[in-house]
Amino acid sequence: MNALVWFRNNLRVTDNAALLTAFRDNDAVMGVYCFDPRQFEKTDFGFRKTGSYRAIFLMETVQDLKTQLETYNIPLVVGFGTPEELIPELIDTFQLTSIHTQKEWTTEETAINTALKSRLNNDCEWHEYYDQFLFHPEDIPYTDFKDIPKVFTEFRKKCEKLTDVRECISKPKKQTKHFDTKEISERYRFPTWDDLQLQEPELDSRSAFPFKGGESNGLQRLEDYVWNSKAIKNYKQTRNGLIGTEYSSKFSAWLANGSLSPKTIYWEVQKFEQEVTKNQDTYWMIFELIWRDFFKYISLKHGDALFNLGGILNKDYTWKSSKEEQKQWIKGNTKYPFVNANMKEIAATGWMSNRGRQNVASFWAKELQQDWRIGASYFESLLIDYDVHSNWGNWQYVSGVGNDPRDRKFNIERQAERYDPNGKYVALWNS
Ligand code: FAD
Repeated sequence: MNALVWFRNNLRVTDNAALLTAFRDNDAVMGVYCFDPRQFEKTDFGFRKTGSYRAIFLMETVQDLKTQLETYNIPLVVGFGTPEELIPELIDTFQLTSIHTQKEWTTEETAINTALKSRLNNDCEWHEYYDQFLFHPEDIPYTDFKDIPKVFTEFRKKCEKLTDVRECISKPKKQTKHFDTKEISERYRFPTWDDLQLQEPELDSRSAFPFKGGESNGLQRLEDYVWNSKAIKNYKQTRNGLIGTEYSSKFSAWLANGSLSPKTIYWEVQKFEQEVTKNQDTYWMIFELIWRDFFKYISLKHGDALFNLGGILNKDYTWKSSKEEQKQWIKGNTKYPFVNANMKEIAATGWMSNRGRQNVASFWAKELQQDWRIGASYFESLLIDYDVHSNWGNWQYVSGVGNDPRDRKFNIERQAERYDPNGKYVALWNS
């Protein structure tokens, strides 16, 4: 029997449940990745769902995955089209008897599953795996996602006490069967910039990090941050920084499309703690990865409420929606130089630090009281590291409709004094 691995946000060979299980339980496997045109359309808020910064990172990622898989003699067919259009033909042509993929639960992703399943023969088996978590859903101390607590600290403490992080899954071995994918690969192809109706972005020399997609680059970044610069030794002290490659890990971009798994990072940090040093800073990397898990569990618990104006708290605030305020915020033309610098950075690079994100979001939602979903949708379009759960969850958190028990509003001037005391960051982007 031959199986298909349908790659989605699990674009890696290392620690990949769908890939390894398909390989182990079948005679041979092939992979597919679909650049879905719907992912590049405009949203109701008028922004392209995927802008050029994430598009190029994604193309690099899929190219790297294809190259990696070739070393295992596993072909990756890449197409520009919807999965429900592209996958059934592959299944028929190569007589594949099962599909293995990462389990997703947000509405758009599950609608695609439904559309695809309706076009498959009943005898094609369907296997899904939760593979984006640090703490696996089967291992957490909550039997029902409805029981996930509202407050992060409660979730973290209980999981830290009662849940072990699983070992990384091993890689497949080189397979002997050869699939002849030449003809189909010519028809199913990578999209061009014209197909995507986007322009290839240029690297801005002020960028905090020269991001390049793909598992190889993600693993290299892990090696650099943990072992080469050893910046992880000071992570908690530097993580609120604004300039340069080492103030934070920048792992988020690879984590978001699954070219790096959180477990891979976790076990590398454990190794570093055993072999070099273990301190508050090394622990804090894991602490932040638990935040990432938390937003995924919140999304599992609340479903579509993640995108509702009232948020998961169903708050009845009055929100404005001024096109002029939106224009000035996006251009970096507000009364706060600190907000402006951050907005210019994201527009020029697709990146913004966590400190910047908190401030510009608080300004947008709390100070201007503009519909927070507009901000979240703009971030979705621009961010290289866009992750549906982290983005919409953090936006809700900052906007007072999510998980922040303190419902804070940032004092932007004080934030700028504290985190950019010499005005270097503001000067870099407002020059
Ligand atoms: P590090 O500080 O090195 O942290 C290591 C990892 O921990 C990150 O890669 C990330 O996976 C996780 N992490 C850290 N902080 C958070 C957090 N607050 N929430 C969830 N996970 C976290 N993160 C995304 O990955 N994608 C998004 O789309 C996204 N949108 C955001 C929107 C807003 C308004 C805010 C305030 C935060 C958002 N974040 C998002 C969270 C956070 O800003 C980024 O994860 C972080 O800046 C990425 O940089 P890093 O990898 O260098 O992080």
